[in-house]
Amino acid sequence: MVEAPPPTLRLDIDREALAHNWRKLDRLSGAARAGAAVKADCYGLGVENCVPALFEAGCRDFFVAHWSEVAPLLPMIPAEQIAVLHGPLTLEEASYARQAGVRPVIDSLRQAKLWTESGGGPCHLMVDTGINRLGISVSEVPEPAVQSLEVEVLLSHLACADEDSPMNARQLADFRAIASSIDHTALSLANSAGIALGSDFHFDLTRPGLSLYGGVPREELADHIRQVAYPKAVIIQTRNVKAGEVVGYNATFTAPSEMRIGVLSLGYADGILRAWRGASFRHGDLALPILGKVSMDMIVIDLSNAPELGEGDWVELPYHLPDAARQTSVSQYELLTVLGQRFERSA
Ligand SMILES: *Cc1c(COP(=O)(O)O)cnc(C)c1O
Repeated sequence: MVEAPPPTLRLDIDREALAHNWRKLDRLSGAARAGAAVKADCYGLGVENCVPALFEAGCRDFFVAHWSEVAPLLPMIPAEQIAVLHGPLTLEEASYARQAGVRPVIDSLRQAKLWTESGGGPCHLMVDTGINRLGISVSEVPEPAVQSLEVEVLLSHLACADEDSPMNARQLADFRAIASSIDHTALSLANSAGIALGSDFHFDLTRPGLSLYGGVPREELADHIRQVAYPKAVIIQTRNVKAGEVVGYNATFTAPSEMRIGVLSLGYADGILRAWRGASFRHGDLALPILGKVSMDMIVIDLSNAPELGEGDWVELPYHLPDAARQTSVSQYELLTVLGQRFERSA
């Protein structure tokens, strides 16, 4: 076997910052404990880099969306700490949940019946209080198929927690009313932004995702949350262009004077979208502006102010999520999950 050379783009994961963010969110959750949304491969950062660190920090409640996301977690954490948000669509999925020992989140009357008819057992229950995605509706709570479930965590999900919307208080009131009409062992309403809405929203368990990974959905969290993911790339070529020469597709950049430029080994195929046009990479305190359009596998930067940088050197894309979202108009969630598989993720 020939060993492949190391990749020329990296996503460095700061596990210490991740653990810090979970502990912070756990503390900000007051009397409630914080869980962790680890769906979509920990929002793109890699379950193997994140889940053990979250477990070590003290997290015991993990949420994924798909059944396919269970298997990679089973070697890392106890099965009963894993909840599958999309619930069982088929008998096969219900039987998988039971055999693996993970908790399905029951999201409809149909899922409630399927779960019970296939053998029942402990589950979580999602009630829809207004987002109209997944969850049984409030009017279905009295149904025998729902009342007979063995509900551990009764959940609902906020639609507008990152805004000061009257919807938050409405959903809170509806959730409280439902809580008294079905047996359960714990209640859970808040995502990352919901934690910042105050103790009324905390109940027994919070479910942060974005803020674990460095996202700041509400200003109240800004001082508490640290950056976790750092995209970096190698300069694979440098060249000199004369005044009047152009750079990249459609020749959108024209050199105003002679300049030294560098070609980086990443592009929109790696999730560095064209929305980054006009932004800058960084080396220490030096800003290295992006020139022209982002290509699929390459980005060109201005090295005029960085004569010491050359081929083989690493530069970093500033990825402080709230700033990056303002810069690109791409949401903080998308900025994380869009990062591609050519990045070597390491903690
Ligand atoms: C993704 C998700 C979360 C986490 O939300 P963030 O906004 O990332 O904190 C919590 N609960 C449910 C049901 C989710 O789908």
